[in-house]
Amino acid sequence: MVRPDPHLRDAILAHLKENHPGMCRHWFDDIEPLEVSGGTLRLLVREAVQLKYLRRCCVDQFQDAAQAVTNRLLAVKFVGEGELVEQPVKIPVKEPSPNTMASGDLAGLLDDDMLLSPDYSFENFIIGPDNRLAHAAAIAVARKPGKAYNPFFIHAGVGLGKTHLLQAVCQTAMRNNPSMRVYYTSCDGFMTQFLESVQAGQMSSFRHRFRNVDMLVVDDIHDLSRRDRTQEEFFHTFNCLYQAGRQIVLSSDAPPNEIPDLEERLTSRFNCGLVARIDKPCYETRVEIVKSKAGLRNIDLPDDAAGYIAARIDSNIRELEGAITKIQSISLLNNTPIDLTLAKQAVGDQITPGTAQHPSIQQIIDAITRFYDVKLTDLLSKRRHKSIALPRQIGMWLARRHTRYSLEEIGGYFGGRDHTTVMHAIKAVNSKRSDDSTVNHDVARLEQQLLSRFPAHQADPQVPDQAAV
Ligand code: ADP
Ligand code: MG
Repeated sequence: MVRPDPHLRDAILAHLKENHPGMCRHWFDDIEPLEVSGGTLRLLVREAVQLKYLRRCCVDQFQDAAQAVTNRLLAVKFVGEGELVEQPVKIPVKEPSPNTMASGDLAGLLDDDMLLSPDYSFENFIIGPDNRLAHAAAIAVARKPGKAYNPFFIHAGVGLGKTHLLQAVCQTAMRNNPSMRVYYTSCDGFMTQFLESVQAGQMSSFRHRFRNVDMLVVDDIHDLSRRDRTQEEFFHTFNCLYQAGRQIVLSSDAPPNEIPDLEERLTSRFNCGLVARIDKPCYETRVEIVKSKAGLRNIDLPDDAAGYIAARIDSNIRELEGAITKIQSISLLNNTPIDLTLAKQAVGDQITPGTAQHPSIQQIIDAITRFYDVKLTDLLSKRRHKSIALPRQIGMWLARRHTRYSLEEIGGYFGGRDHTTVMHAIKAVNSKRSDDSTVNHDVARLEQQLLSRFPAHQADPQVPDQAAV
């Protein structure tokens, strides 16, 4: 047995960073090389979720790195604290606290199929107006399983954080209560196991697996649609757990009532706890997410570059991450610093050539509905309540200032109003901006959000800031 060179870890990490930049995480710094024995380098990982993740996803890359930096044909083995018992090397063991537990304890509880990403924790989840409710409810569920909201149902479009929140619930619940039996699976995983168990005649073990847990977490439950027998099985699984007061957490790309071909009895059960929606993140949230993702990878990303990426990519968060990976790769390839110029180079082509250089009325309307949280139908309706009339007027004002549409055309887009209404709206917004600092501030923020995607755009000089009629 040989104690490894204390610099070995740094050398391995540097090699990984150069050759597999996308997979590196800041918590790799916590990995401790223990010894080289029988041609195997043993690396200690204290967190169970990290241990499992490294074993499943990173052994080959670490092995390549270890071989490259030592010039020896080493194998790599990740070990948890629980496996150290008979080792002669004395490892300082942290006192277990409610939030940190020896990985050996947890490892036994994690099913072989259940791979959680260490990235998907509450600490790494950025809270914004678009996901606040879902996040708060997820925390409550993780702290008080079966008591806070049951079932807890999250729905959102692709790449908006469903899986992240579900896995954060699992990780927190397991940390808070080490003896808790948590089962996380995708709906596909549930269906595949069901079909395999039917074919193998092992339904009792299937039922045992799914019905003897304290918390069942099923991701992408909308995939259940059109599978009659699996729906039936899931219905009984659900009832069994629910009646026993066990926590059920589900995610879906649509609210329960809008999942096609879902049996009514399931829809009503999914609706009987808390249903929370995550919306697309606003600009400010996206900036924070970009920064946080860069931080996770130990990338020093300047604020202007983060702002630029967030302004360019607004569809889903996975694409924001893709942009960071791209920037990181270009920086390594060309040996250039990560800055705004590089960000522009990397994501500048994200906008299809030939697209408009100024916002469309549709984008203005979208920005208004998001910012003021008003429904599109209300915005375009005849309703005159202040909470709707003001956003509508600001929308018209922005359209006049930042598009080339005539007053008539703008009126047409905003619910078929005539040009005098648009003129009145513009005057009203101008005077409110001078009299009311909140309105002025809101308009400025909206304008900034809207225009950050069109750096080349300038407001129509024919339409001055004030008196823009
Ligand atoms: P979904 O399951 O809804 O398709 P994911 O949970 O897989 O989406 O999220 C896609 C990516 O975006 C993941 O890397 C996730 O960590 C990240 N992400 C989503 N929402 C947030 C958030 N609020 N804060 C930080 N990262 C987020
Ligand atoms: Mg998902």
